[in-house]
Amino acid sequence: MSVTNYLNQKILNSDQLITKPVKQISRDGYFGQYGGQFIPEILKERFDRLTQAFFEAVDDPQFNQEFIDLLINYVGRPSPLYYAKRLSEHVGSKIYLKREDLNHTGSHKINNTIGQVLLAKRLGFKEVIAETGAGQHGVATATAAALMGMKCKIFMGKKDYDRQFLNVKRMELLGAEVIPVTSANQSLKDAVDEALNYYIQNPQAYYIIGSVVGPHPYPSMVRYFQSVIGNEARAQILHFEGRLPDYVVAAIGGGSNSIGVFAAFIDDPDVKLIAGEGAGQGIDSDKTAATLTLGKEIILQGMKTLSLVDENGQPRPSYSIAAGLDYPGIGPEHAHLRDTGRVKYYPITDQEAIDAFHLLSELEGIIPAMESAHAVALAVKELKNKNVLAIINVSGRGDKDVERIK
Ligand SMILES: *Cc1c(COP(=O)(O)O)cnc(C)c1O
Repeated sequence: MSVTNYLNQKILNSDQLITKPVKQISRDGYFGQYGGQFIPEILKERFDRLTQAFFEAVDDPQFNQEFIDLLINYVGRPSPLYYAKRLSEHVGSKIYLKREDLNHTGSHKINNTIGQVLLAKRLGFKEVIAETGAGQHGVATATAAALMGMKCKIFMGKKDYDRQFLNVKRMELLGAEVIPVTSANQSLKDAVDEALNYYIQNPQAYYIIGSVVGPHPYPSMVRYFQSVIGNEARAQILHFEGRLPDYVVAAIGGGSNSIGVFAAFIDDPDVKLIAGEGAGQGIDSDKTAATLTLGKEIILQGMKTLSLVDENGQPRPSYSIAAGLDYPGIGPEHAHLRDTGRVKYYPITDQEAIDAFHLLSELEGIIPAMESAHAVALAVKELKNKNVLAIINVSGRGDKDVERIK
């Protein structure tokens, strides 16, 4: 029997299910001094209900079973842990790739949207809403909504709406209503404001956040749904190598794929956790998204966290070639993990990511998302001739980025 078949056999035996979330959750929504729930009074009741429902769902075997069933049979999990021989030889370390790019819809984002739509259904909602920048989270949301028969509204800045024709079309084909937001700068931030307004005025709608950001319980909830990545990777590397990796490497935008793969290793002090953030044109330039390198403590989008700020201490616009990393804030748990030193964060420039994008394509026949290319670039730099064992989380596939690469 091939190794892959062997693993597929293993998941059929429920004692050895490798697709399962990490049940280690911040009950009060704080990660050190970061996190919390900074929301208008009018939303308090809805958040209390959501928080309670989430904790009940986590402890409900039937909810978890339904979640895991969909991940296995619909998303196609477990995603392979693939030994990248040619990349390993190039770098001088033994490198495995966690293939989130092979999930249905092409990235890790579907793990979270499936989980949240299931939770929305459990709470009796019939409509979900989300905002999206490049459209990746919008597509993942529209997909899960179609699967579970939910009405779906996606808010998108008019600028992104015009640029991202393919993803707009995909969302519409999936039955979602895509709303171009024409207020202010017509950007992602304006889409967030508009979605929030709609949410406040429409108690019948469930808001799906796409990363480990926002007020409690979202950072904990998204972490829970994404933590299947690390649980699988841990079982897979133990199966292939008989030991834990020396390094786990990920790209970081809001922080969901990285926390998803890190969560299962956080209590293993010998496993080094490293993440590459979008430095854009460099941390000394205005055009950067290196929040963990440059950020200041602030209250942003309902949470206490780090953000890029201007001279008045207000959040300032970010920039990265990778749309998923182009965000001035960061999930609160990452701010905490930076302070404690458990995770090390490194700025990766656009150019380094582009080089890694080509490198992985040519060495392994895998075109990574430009976001994921930041993780590959970090591994190439940090693991050079170290002869260590490492896992890189390939958060998504790069088809969406091909047009932008000259
Ligand atoms: C959205 C996205 C990211 C960044 O978001 P995180 O919450 O940090 O994971 C990374 N990779 C891909 C492919 C994405 O679509």
